[in-house]
Amino acid sequence: MGCDVLVIGGGATGLGVVRDAAMRGWSAVLVERVDLGQGTTGRFHGLLHSGGRYVVSDPRSATECAEENAILRRIAADAVEDTGGLFVTTPADDPAYADRFLAGCAEHGVAAEEVPVAEALRREPRLNPAISRAFEVADASIDSWTLLWGNARSAREHGARILPYHWVTGVLRDGDRVAGVTAQDNRGHREVRIEAGFTINAAGVWAGQLADMAGCPGVTVVPGKGIMIAMNHRLVGTVINRCELPGDGDILVPIHTVCVIGTTDVKAPTPDDLSIARDQVQEMLDAGEVLVPGFRESRALHAWSGSRPLFTDERADGAQDTRHMSRGLALVDHLERDGVEGFLTITGGKLTTYRLMAETVVDAMGEQLGDPRPCRTAAEPLPGSEDGRPYWLGSRLRRQEEVMPDDQLICECELMQRSRLEAAAASRPGLNLDDVRRVLRLGMGPCQGGFCTYRAAGVLHAIGDADGPRADELLLQFLHHRWLGIEPILAGRGMRQACIDDWIFQGALDVEHLPVTPPA
Ligand SMILES: Cc1cc2nc3c(=O)[nH]c(=O)nc-3n(C[C@H](O)[C@H](O)[C@H](O)COP(=O)(O)OP(=O)(O)OC[C@H]3O[C@@H](n4cnc5c(N)ncnc54)[C@H](O)[C@@H]3O)c2cc1C
Repeated sequence: MGCDVLVIGGGATGLGVVRDAAMRGWSAVLVERVDLGQGTTGRFHGLLHSGGRYVVSDPRSATECAEENAILRRIAADAVEDTGGLFVTTPADDPAYADRFLAGCAEHGVAAEEVPVAEALRREPRLNPAISRAFEVADASIDSWTLLWGNARSAREHGARILPYHWVTGVLRDGDRVAGVTAQDNRGHREVRIEAGFTINAAGVWAGQLADMAGCPGVTVVPGKGIMIAMNHRLVGTVINRCELPGDGDILVPIHTVCVIGTTDVKAPTPDDLSIARDQVQEMLDAGEVLVPGFRESRALHAWSGSRPLFTDERADGAQDTRHMSRGLALVDHLERDGVEGFLTITGGKLTTYRLMAETVVDAMGEQLGDPRPCRTAAEPLPGSEDGRPYWLGSRLRRQEEVMPDDQLICECELMQRSRLEAAAASRPGLNLDDVRRVLRLGMGPCQGGFCTYRAAGVLHAIGDADGPRADELLLQFLHHRWLGIEPILAGRGMRQACIDDWIFQGALDVEHLPVTPPA
């Protein structure tokens, strides 16, 4: 297989790059080791940053976020819920920070306006009544999977090929030039060789590993691990930030039917370390209490973690404290740095700045090729966002009402219809239930797959997509993965839900003893 541009990594950055390159007329291929969005992009907090969070600590990121926020609201409207955002000074915060925050917003192009405390409390009645100041900003929540599928669809429409489950195992060199990769196709069970005129490394927190493979050692991407917890309903309808320097558990994001508290930030031993320490769970629940009194009484649904790709720049060189490393994007020019042609790395940044990262690296490629071509991604909407209308929470219910009672509901929490599951299975042969979760949010709501997983596996079997043993395997695999995020938060009311699930799981269906090998 051959192409002009090969992109490694199927997160927001890689999908942004492949779309951008394809729109500029280059033949482009993307390879991703697992499913699209299974890296940090599918494990983030859900915030479309206004930039407010970084105005004092990391002004460059603040400005990048503010500018990209405005662009994404236009081009990716159906992934964005316009919740608005508030920065609030709680009794636990330094009251002097609020004025520095306002000055920083003005200086770095982040729109912010002080609102009376009474107005903030009217808007968000559960908010801590002891807050002393409140500032309105343009924060929003963003669904990373909707964003990814939009980019993937658009890239394909412009002729790109996107290959999930293709794990890069080697980078091809032709003298001083990178000439493509070899990859293990984990669905087709074969090795493929992809030759490329130019290769772009968008492997996020794994980017250092890919640079090593290309013979460009020393690209240090530190995994800044954070945990987040989804609570069983929207305790707030607006993104709430504490008005202080970035710290742990200081943002609450309402997204779809839940809200998410996060996050911690510690250096992980490897990018693949997704473990969740129980003391950090407690820390997050306590932090939620500072923003919303009574927070601990709500039911925690699921905990997960992800690792930020923190590129060590001169400012942070040698720093151990991941909280203080820049969130700015990092473009590594391997021609300049290592004398290697046809290879660029783009890492760091935020989900909010993925499009800018893509534009930056594709511009750099054009320059190196002596063939600069204009970028159009800031103006052309993604498929599904053409009307510019942001996502509305009630939209899925409205869609369900239109087809009721003809279309069976498979997942009540997330309003997932049978017809949509069948369509997903038809368009993605060999999909597993975790792939369904990323496409249709299976098992993401309050029951966490306790009821819907069995139905979904049954439908895949009924439509001939999975034979009996395969359906059993899918079921076990999915339940096993969901459990990983439930086990660390088992306490209180969450325990009751887990007991019901366990009774269905072990008692009624005896799933554990299905004749398949349980996942490791
Ligand atoms: C806890 C946490 C909370 C966050 N919250 C926010 C937020 O609220 N808002 C925001 O804007 N940003 C947030 N971020 C940052 C944001 O999520 C990331 O910056 C962004 O998702 C990174 O995207 P990416 O595409 O660069 O990396 P990834 O999404 O990690 O993509 C890289 C891909 O490369 C693939 N890959 C690796 N090795 C190989 C290989 N050998 N072959 C093929 N493929 C390979 C991986 O599987 C992965 O899918 C958060 C990050 C964390 C950790």
